[in-house]
Amino acid sequence: MKAIILLGAPGAGKGTLAEGVRKETDYQHVSTGDMLRVAVKAGTPTGLEAKSYMEKGELVPDDVILRIVGERLAEGRPEDKLMFDGFPRTLEQARQLDAVLEKAGAKVDQVFLLDVPTETIVSRLSGRRICKGCGAVYHVTNIPPKAEGVCDKCGGPLYQRPDDSEATVLNRLEVYQRQTASLIDFYEQKGILIHVNAGTTPQDATKEMLSKLA
Ligand SMILES: [Zn+2]
Repeated sequence: MKAIILLGAPGAGKGTLAEGVRKETDYQHVSTGDMLRVAVKAGTPTGLEAKSYMEKGELVPDDVILRIVGERLAEGRPEDKLMFDGFPRTLEQARQLDAVLEKAGAKVDQVFLLDVPTETIVSRLSGRRICKGCGAVYHVTNIPPKAEGVCDKCGGPLYQRPDDSEATVLNRLEVYQRQTASLIDFYEQKGILIHVNAGTTPQDATKEMLSKLA
């Protein structure tokens, strides 16, 4: 079994990149959100435990997430190639993931860190506009609607999510950097951290990551 991890700030384009790599390789895109949804739907004991937290609007604790990851790995086949997205988020989770992978006879093979300048992330996220009617996503400069503030698809009004205001974006980035600094050191010391320039286009970033994939 092979395992790689995608690390990147909010707005770094992890989702688009993961999708590009999935299409071009045999890597499966593994997000903890998806694994949680599958476990909850399947009604496994761990899934039901996770559901009880989600119903209360609480974060699912690390140990429950780790168990779900472990169960997913236990079902895996030796030829599986997994690409983790959004997990691990902390050093503690990274250590636990190593232990879970070891049980499955695997390890983290490569960690891809998406490098994007802060001002690029701020412009990507703070320029985002969403349709109140149909949820379509626009960007004031990159994907502008035909008429300002109006959805091309349904004519609904466009708005900026409070999460995407410049001050909130800067705050989210600071939280991300604080959380992941030790995680980045951890993988750098293992010699498996690989930088990918994700400040350009998703296509270029995907191409660069594919060229560095072992
Ligand atoms: Zn719309």
